[in-house]
Amino acid sequence: MLVIHRTSYFVHLTLYCSYFCTMQITSATYLLSSPSFDQCPKPDRPEYAFIGRSNVGKSSLINSLCNNQKLAKTSASPGKTQMINHFSIESTSGKGPRDKWYLVDLPGYGYAKISQSDRRRWEQMIEGYLRKRENLVNMFVLIDSRHEPQKNDLAFVNQLDKWQVPFVLVFTKADKEKPTVVERHVKAFLDAMRETWQFLPRSFVTSAIKNNGREEILAFIEECNKQVERPGLG
Ligand code: GDP
Repeated sequence: MLVIHRTSYFVHLTLYCSYFCTMQITSATYLLSSPSFDQCPKPDRPEYAFIGRSNVGKSSLINSLCNNQKLAKTSASPGKTQMINHFSIESTSGKGPRDKWYLVDLPGYGYAKISQSDRRRWEQMIEGYLRKRENLVNMFVLIDSRHEPQKNDLAFVNQLDKWQVPFVLVFTKADKEKPTVVERHVKAFLDAMRETWQFLPRSFVTSAIKNNGREEILAFIEECNKQVERPGLG
């Protein structure tokens, strides 16, 4: 069994996470797509989920992290999958033992052409998953670094706060704009959060094309894996 205390966990990570990454992903395989949280795999490993607006670059980032360009299907047509997609990951850290964890690709939000009923179904599936998935360690909320703060991104992170889901921000596609523009957009998003948040989450700036931010995210996951309490394993 895996025990995760969501609120205290968040604080620990903020204090102790370092960016020195020794993690190597040795295996990444697609496992299962589930229509609801209760059909997901047994919650016996730490789990990390990725979400963001459609077309934010989620598949590309997952592929970059796992060093496998075909793992999550990069698609030109947004709004494609409406399932909770599990990938089984094995990694090693330095001389430490092999770690097993789940990476989850969640369907994106903000797709204009979706029907009312599909939107409702998405909301129910995501709420069920986020509130009840007991082995969920952290959410990666992806934000397109090319844009000013978007209302639906801010609404989504505020919702995560209400549900006490630990998360970090990942600003994507940083290679598409000048660094000063990316910096301005990151600052604007964090400033918008500051209006209602006392503490800001950790944030990463990434490019799936240049693999920027990859090492930092893997270091973060490595640190989280170390801190997950596993009763009976000492
Ligand atoms: P998803 O719908 O969120 O999974 O987004 P995708 O990963 O399919 O990416 C959407 C589009 O953005 C594709 O054309 C990608 O090639 C492109 N893209 C994604 N990430 C990056 C990035 O870091 N840099 C650049 N230049 N393009 C990206």
